[in-house]
Amino acid sequence: MQCKFGDPTCPCQDGDMCHYEGTDGWPPPVAGRGKGQMTTTETPLRVGDVLQGFCGGWFGRNSYEDKRVEAIGSDWVVVRDDRNYPLFSEGDPERLIEYRGTGGTE
Ligand SMILES: [Zn+2]
Repeated sequence: MQCKFGDPTCPCQDGDMCHYEGTDGWPPPVAGRGKGQMTTTETPLRVGDVLQGFCGGWFGRNSYEDKRVEAIGSDWVVVRDDRNYPLFSEGDPERLIEYRGTGGTE
């Protein structure tokens, strides 16, 4: 039996309770969370990076301009668009990496 959290040392593989479940459960391993935990080969999103165009609609359905990253939290990002308008997006900053332009620093 395979641990559903992908832990090969988890007791749930011997039929016991998964140690990521229950009231005393360990925090489940979440990809991309936590400082210094590099789960991708890509450079993390940084302040000053430029996100190009629509960005999959993460900053609203009316935001087609390029946006510059102003602040990054653990699960949010604030950018500023070409009209000097600040935009907030809730969610993992890593999902925005694919929209980053190549010329991020000017
Ligand atoms: Zn388990």
